[in-house]
Formats: sequence, structure tokens, C-alpha cells
Amino acid sequence: MTTEDAPSGAPLKPLVFRVDETTPEVVQSVLLECGWDKFDEKRQNVEDWNLYWRTSSFRMTEHIRVKPWQRLNHHPGTTKLTRKDHLAKHLKHMRRMYSTSLYEFIPLTFVMPNDYIKFVAEFCKEKQTLGTKQSYWICKPAELSRGRGIIIFNDLRDLIFNDTHIVQKYICNPLLVGRYKCDLRVYVCVTSFKPLTIYVYQEGLVRFATEKFDLSNLQDFYAHLTNSSINKSGASYGKIKEVVGQGCKWTLSRFFSYLRNWDVDDLLLWQKINSMVILTVLAMAPSVPLADNCFELFGFDILIDDNLKPWLLEVNCSPALSLDCPTNVLVKRKLIHDVIELVYLNGLRNEDKEHGKATNGNSFSKSDQCKLREAHGSLPYEALLQFKSRTYSSSDTVEEKAVRLLPKHTRTSQLREMMNEQKDLLVPTRQAPRLMSRHTPHEAFVPYASLIRSHPCKAKVSPGIPPDPGQAPSPHAGNFVLIFPFNEATLGASRNGLNVKQIIQELQKLTNKRHPQVEKNKTNRR
Ligand code: ADP
Repeated sequence: MTTEDAPSGAPLKPLVFRVDETTPEVVQSVLLECGWDKFDEKRQNVEDWNLYWRTSSFRMTEHIRVKPWQRLNHHPGTTKLTRKDHLAKHLKHMRRMYSTSLYEFIPLTFVMPNDYIKFVAEFCKEKQTLGTKQSYWICKPAELSRGRGIIIFNDLRDLIFNDTHIVQKYICNPLLVGRYKCDLRVYVCVTSFKPLTIYVYQEGLVRFATEKFDLSNLQDFYAHLTNSSINKSGASYGKIKEVVGQGCKWTLSRFFSYLRNWDVDDLLLWQKINSMVILTVLAMAPSVPLADNCFELFGFDILIDDNLKPWLLEVNCSPALSLDCPTNVLVKRKLIHDVIELVYLNGLRNEDKEHGKATNGNSFSKSDQCKLREAHGSLPYEALLQFKSRTYSSSDTVEEKAVRLLPKHTRTSQLREMMNEQKDLLVPTRQAPRLMSRHTPHEAFVPYASLIRSHPCKAKVSPGIPPDPGQAPSPHAGNFVLIFPFNEATLGASRNGLNVKQIIQELQKLTNKRHPQVEKNKTNRR
């Protein structure tokens, strides 16, 4: 069966998601809302699902067994970045390997106990240089999260650890909002490591400490740690705090508009963050195993200092998706919705390739298809194919297609979303600014719009005909914007193997181009 001969009038079969006891509630509720069915092993065949979303990673055998119509929400090997000691080692390796200052976005880090002697030497050296001024450090367990087990210290005698910890330079000049410390949670979705494809979410969270920043009291975690798991229980959580207000969270868009009011060059800051994200993912990309049909949603924790330099603190797999405050609800529901849209937008495009393989008898044979069809009436991916073949029926105008495809009561809103997205793809337009009113960050950082304009496959794209799935990934889906590849050179450098050196050179060129801007835009800071 090909896309062309899919029965265009047949009713669409809802997509099916699979969960386990660790799957966040919001994922399930968004999928149900979008018209997906929850997998029921008593009623359905073991392979009759399209998306498996859970908090823990999948075994390699599960990755190997995944079918062309299925997606897993984790990629194997991503813990390389999510353990604090691994992150530090990988970034240090990249800095050495490519002798570039681009990687100086992680605070100076030592892995304990191995680096203890080196750390003591650095500590003493700094003490001498600073004279009477204090030097501040933070010690964090390599594998714990939510601020557990953290010590902030300026006296070597306070450093206590038993298993693997990292000791890191404490950023003691954080950008303060109303005298409160904050950090950013930036969401990043890697839809493929081979070829490397990275999207960054244009909305996110800003997490505040709930007591005023004060270096004279390092024991006050409500002033020094921005984890909401800690600050939720602080005495000032419910109080209306100077500038910050009640609670301990803002949306990223609110934060950026606050910065603009202080005349901060928010675009430059966003560019630096995007660059940091690419460089970080690049540090692990060459060593992750090849695995199809999976994606990874990362949460990058980023601290901004009062020179507007972003520092990477941590990368989280399975970032928290609890909806315990209105800001979380606002950001995370839409986030999940957009992840699904992104994955299935790319999925649809890849499905075409996979399906081609299947009809050639490679990964998914005709006899397999027949067996499944006999057992279940239609194949799990046929809903996708039916949707796809209708969307691209060649004779209609884009508007006619949209009208004809408007969902009846039984259609899912998820498909509606995809239709809208396909319309966007057919007629590439300037995306409305989402995060910032003055700028469209992805256009400014990532000349992706120009890539589409100049890419050879552009010539083949005309209304009514989908873009060639083998060429460039979608520039955006919901609030996700493609940040890698970001030009012709990086598209090439990520397609035939991963040419890390060339990609870093391209990033260096971008950074150099921006440099004069940095000087010009020295801003009034708090
Ligand atoms: P966890 O995984 O336990 O949340 P993080 O590395 O995210 O550990 O650190 C927790 C919090 O501590 C951060 O959200 C931030 O507020 C603060 N923090 C961590 N590292 C530093 C640092 N190097 N400088 C300043 N503050 C830091």
C-alpha cells in the first residue's frame, strides 16, 4: 500500500498512546484531549500503539523492537548529559578537543573524589588572588535532583561528600529580579541524533528563590537555590514579593519582557542560550547509539549572571511535568501538545520513508502488514497515511483541503493541529513572534528562513505538494523552533555523519558576527 492508494474516504483510526505508572498525568490528559486512545493490552494487540511515553529510559531491546509507526519518548544514551559529572566531563572534553572558548558556559567544575587535589589547589590559588575577598563554591551530588544534598561553602572545612559529587564555582553575581535569584528552565527537543535535529521551545519557566539573595548567609537555601520543590515550602512562597510577586515561577516570556523594560538585549541573550544548547547536545551526539523512532525532551537549567552571561547548570531528561501552579499549567500543557505535534509532524514525514521501505520488503514486510491487518482491520499507521494522502490530494487549493479536512465530531483535534501545521508548511511564512515582541529569535539566530529560501529542495515546494521529507526538517511546530541545523553548511555537516569540527566552526562564525553587537549593546543592568 502506498500513500497514493490509501483509502481516502475511510474513517480515521485514533492514534494510540501507551503509558506506565511513571507517565506524567499531563501527558495522558493532553493526549486524551487531542483524541488519542489509551493503549489497553487486554483489548489491543501488543504492537498496536503509536507513542510510548514514560519517565524512565527504555531498554535497548525495546528500541530495537520499535515499529515504524511507533515512537518512544527517550533516546538511548542521553544520560551522558544528564548526570552532573558526565556533563562536566563531556563539556571539558569538547573544550580541549576543539580548543574553543565557546564551551566556557559551564562554571569551573571538579568531580569528586577524583579531582579533590586539583580542587584544593584551585581553591588555595583563588584565595591568594582574592586576598580578603571570599571565594564561593557549591557541592552537588552527581545523581540527585531537586536541590537535595547541596552545600554552598567558602571554607574548605565545610566540604563534605561521600560518593560522586561535583564541586563547582558558585555564581555569586546572579541576575536578580527584585533582589531574588532565578534560573531558567529551557525546553529542548531532539527529534533525531542522526541526523542531528534540535528544536528549542520559545516558552519556558523562570524559577525564583523566595528569600532575597544574601551572600552572608550561605545556609539559607530559600535564597540560594531556585528549585521549586524547595521554595514551595518556604515561608515567603505565598507572599507578594518585590517585583516577583506571589509564588516562585514566571513564564519565560514574562521574564524576557521584564528584561526588555530594563533595556536588556534579550535577543542576544536568547542567541547565546541557543548556541549553548547546540554545543551541549553536540557534546553527546557522536556517542549516542543509533536508534530510530525516538525523541528526547530535555530541560536545560540556565543561570544568568549580572553581565548577562548564561551559565549551564544542568540538563534534565524527563523534566518535571507536574501542574502544581498556574504558571506550570500554562506552560506545560501547551509544551506537551507541541511536543506531540513536533514528533508527529516529523513522524509523518519519516513515515513516508519508512513506508517506502516497508513496501520494498525491508524493515516491515508485506506479509507482516497483512497479518496485522487481518488481526486488526487496519494498521496502526494507516490513520497517519489516510490523513496524509488526503492532506496532499493534489488538485485542491490549500484552503479547500483545509475546509474538506475540517474534523467531524469523530476526528481528533490532534489531526486538526497537524492539518494546520501542514498548511503552514505548504506556504512557508514568517512565523509570528511568540516569545518576544521585538524579535523572532529563530530568524535572528538561525538563518533557517534563508535556508528554506535558498535550499535546493525549495524549488520543488509549491502549494499542494509537501516538502521533500529527506531534505530539511520542519522549521517549527507549535512553539518549537528548529535551531539545528541552522544553515546550509550545518545541514550538510549533520547529514553524512556528524562533522563536529565544521559545526563548531560555523557556530564560531556566528558568534564572531555577533561580537560587535555585544559591545554596542552594553546595557543598563540591575
Ligand atoms: P539539582 O539537580 O539538585 O536541582 P542543580 O544543579 O540544578 O541541582 O542546582 C540546584 C540549584 O542550585 C539551581 O537551580 C541553582 O539555583 C543553584 N545552583 C546550582 N549550581 C549553581 C552554581 N554553580 N552557581 C550558583 N547557583 C547554583
